[in-house]
Amino acid sequence: MGWAIALHGGAGDIPLSLPAEGRAPREAALRHCLELGVAALKANRPPLDVVELVVRELENSPCFNAGKGSVLTTNGTVEMEACIMDGNTKKCGAVSGLSTVVNAISLARLVMERTPHIYLAFDGAEAFAREQGVETAHSSHFITPENVERLKNAKEAKRVQIDYTEPIKGAIPSSIGDSQIGTVGCVAVDGHGILASATSTGGLVNKMAGRIGDTPIIGAGTYANSYCAVSATGKGESIIQATVARDVAALMEYKGLSLKEAAAYVIERTPKGNVGLVAVSANGEVTMPFNTTGMFRACATEDGYSEIGIWPSGINGDLEYPNK
Ligand code: ASP
Repeated sequence: MGWAIALHGGAGDIPLSLPAEGRAPREAALRHCLELGVAALKANRPPLDVVELVVRELENSPCFNAGKGSVLTTNGTVEMEACIMDGNTKKCGAVSGLSTVVNAISLARLVMERTPHIYLAFDGAEAFAREQGVETAHSSHFITPENVERLKNAKEAKRVQIDYTEPIKGAIPSSIGDSQIGTVGCVAVDGHGILASATSTGGLVNKMAGRIGDTPIIGAGTYANSYCAVSATGKGESIIQATVARDVAALMEYKGLSLKEAAAYVIERTPKGNVGLVAVSANGEVTMPFNTTGMFRACATEDGYSEIGIWPSGINGDLEYPNK
């Protein structure tokens, strides 16, 4: 038993040739967010607070596809979504279709704590945000020049793009490194085995207006119970079909698999190139498998293990080091 934390900044076809200017700021953001989460766990903050805190920070970074930095719909707008779940109580909250809320994850938590419901979307979610007085910004605040470019490229190629998977051929010639962005998520467990999960995203580049992905769907992109907490990333439609997050928990609960076994089983059975996840168990195990080329990820455990990586361990200078 001991605390553990893992976070991700999206999975996909991240080329090994990712230039330093695309890699360094994202690694720095992962390191910063990991340190923030570890400090909060060491200060005995509840895991639910820890995952919200870390995901807010990831949302505020333009390096990732959530909050500021969200990818654009086919109409050139942002439609952000997020989900949070407390493993202890199985209480959860989710939001979709946000265009002005600075931290979607905090609104998801308010849905969980201050409404009789689990999931609010579009106008109703925006109205709830106003009522709760959460920080909002003009929708243009979330739109980065990189995402305007990404949408243009996706439209030219007539594709809905899972943000970075299979970069559109010939379409992102000079800025391939800048196209490596992704959904964000964090899972945490404290020394008492209390678990929590949070995920936030802008979805897919050139998605239809109104499209909802796996992130806010309990059991697909996000899940936590008394066994584990899971946050997934990748192609939302595949993750929903595979009920990725809940399947990891179900394999532990019904089949007695360890966290690593359960997560590996689910990843192996989801179409290749489509999914990655981060997960922690009640006894402080951590796992971060993916079947894509890479996944921006970081983790730490109370016994001193820490990892920050993009590609499979040991490839291209990924860091894996003891953090004594
Ligand atoms: N899973 C997200 C979605 O489909 C995208 C991602 O993970 O990058 O909306």
